[in-house]
Amino acid sequence: MNFLDKFRDPELCRRLLDLIHKESKGVRFMEVCGTHTVSIFQSGIHTLLPDNVVHLTGPGCPVCVTHDREVAAYLELAARPGVTIATFGDLMKVPGPKGRNLKTAQADGADVRVVYSPFDSLELARKLPDRQVVFLGIGFETTAPAVAATLKAAREQKLANFKVLPFHKLVPPALRGLLSDPEMRIEGFILPGHVSAVIGLDPYKFLGDDCGLPAAITGFEPLDLLQALLFLVRQKNTGGHEVVNQYRRVVADAGNPKAMQVMYEVFEPADALWRGIGTIPGSGLAIREEYAEHDAFRALDLTLPEVPPLPGCRCGEVLKGKMRPDQCPLFKKACTPATPVGPCMVSTEGSCAAYFKYQLDA
Ligand code: SF4
Repeated sequence: MNFLDKFRDPELCRRLLDLIHKESKGVRFMEVCGTHTVSIFQSGIHTLLPDNVVHLTGPGCPVCVTHDREVAAYLELAARPGVTIATFGDLMKVPGPKGRNLKTAQADGADVRVVYSPFDSLELARKLPDRQVVFLGIGFETTAPAVAATLKAAREQKLANFKVLPFHKLVPPALRGLLSDPEMRIEGFILPGHVSAVIGLDPYKFLGDDCGLPAAITGFEPLDLLQALLFLVRQKNTGGHEVVNQYRRVVADAGNPKAMQVMYEVFEPADALWRGIGTIPGSGLAIREEYAEHDAFRALDLTLPEVPPLPGCRCGEVLKGKMRPDQCPLFKKACTPATPVGPCMVSTEGSCAAYFKYQLDA
């Protein structure tokens, strides 16, 4: 028996679903993790919930929340002579201004390399001493510690031609930012498993203490998700606002202090731009002064260009849970995984791509 099979047990899933149906008096919940988005659609849980349990997908896909201006900035960098861009593969097709992306940049002669770890880009910097190798630092707290460790190694190894473009985002400040929008109607959160393995439980406590909302860190299997949903239903029914860790097999309440220490040794909190949300105070990571020679902004004199939003794309509303992907006029028409108009259709963790792949047509 696979270890994970017990978290997919159909009989236990049925029992939890029955309890949710029996007890729910209505709750609007949001998940903020691309892997949760995919798990919910892949398992079909969204089709089995009672009508009064409303699922909202939030800004949980790091590629999707990368702002148009940030995409324009790295495309501008890619076009510069002497620059090599190192990136994870999921950014290659993210559309920027005038439909351009890293693939079209590559076709125009830019040197763009797909890497599987930030440390691979360090190896590139060693092999290409005459070029500026820029790693695109995109991701949440899950990836930032590894990028920080790479920057530390670059400094120790005196690889001055290695740079990072710091576009990392932090989840808890984004939740605060979302909740400050008076139009948002969120009554509970399912919190991301991977991010929480790094940051732990404490950074989410404000949800209960300040916002009066319940929230659960949970895993990605059907039983994990249903257990978290039953918790939110019961909290809503009783007016509770507990914030709990239901993913103890992976997430320690204290998170991973070593990873956090490395992250904050190299980075410091900074304001960040989020697609569809705008600037959220303290929701990003800037490179500290001691590492300035590895900061692509400072070392390569880069600024964020002003660019118009992607024409017709409603990713901003999808990322705030204000619109379902199939309510976008371009969904499955002009916009498909083969012809993505916006990043939510590019990334495998994007809401539009998950909806496209797993939606059951009536
Ligand atoms: S369906 Fe395409 S165009 Fe519409 S919001 Fe999603 S990614 Fe953007």
